[in-house]
Amino acid sequence: MIDKTEKRIEIIQLSDINLQTLHCPFCNSKNLKKSHSYLRKIADLGTKDLRKFLEFESIHIKCKSCGKIFPCQREGIVPGLSISEAILDTILALYYDFGNSAGMIRRIMERLYSVSLKDKTILRWIRTYGKEYCRKNHKKYKENIEQYSGIMSLDGTFPALELNPTGGAKIPHIKKKQVSYLQLTTLPNGTLLAIWDKAKPNPK
Ligand SMILES: [Zn+2]
Repeated sequence: MIDKTEKRIEIIQLSDINLQTLHCPFCNSKNLKKSHSYLRKIADLGTKDLRKFLEFESIHIKCKSCGKIFPCQREGIVPGLSISEAILDTILALYYDFGNSAGMIRRIMERLYSVSLKDKTILRWIRTYGKEYCRKNHKKYKENIEQYSGIMSLDGTFPALELNPTGGAKIPHIKKKQVSYLQLTTLPNGTLLAIWDKAKPNPK
């Protein structure tokens, strides 16, 4: 992640896992010991001017009864991901519940939560975790996802027009470069969000 801004940074240390509370997923034994571990730092949902990270010990545990080694799951952490479950859930909600394109999701994540992502990374996570998200939230899952934007309906009555250069809106006889764009979208909490370009001085 590249941080070109001067946002504040907060790193939250997650507490150690109490081995006493765990049992072996293979034989159910409570006779466990730490096998190996390493320190991990992942991004979490921040705020407009605060980048937030979670730091924790990623632990593998060895069962002394059956000898098997297994990773220790942590609440709020998705195995193998460099972002927290809160970020993943927000991305999936912005996509499936509110119909945002990957480009729009990238902007929202950076501007409101100070999480820097690439469009293709967002799309990869949507492909990987979308099915499970839709099943859990009783949504119709769309297998064949595309980057979509343009004119979309927010609540069925309010059309939004996106003139994002990467978006799909086709405005006849207007060069996209000459147009300042206004994007409207909704956030998971229902807030309506407008994002627009800074006005550029006339080159004349
Ligand atoms: Zn075991």
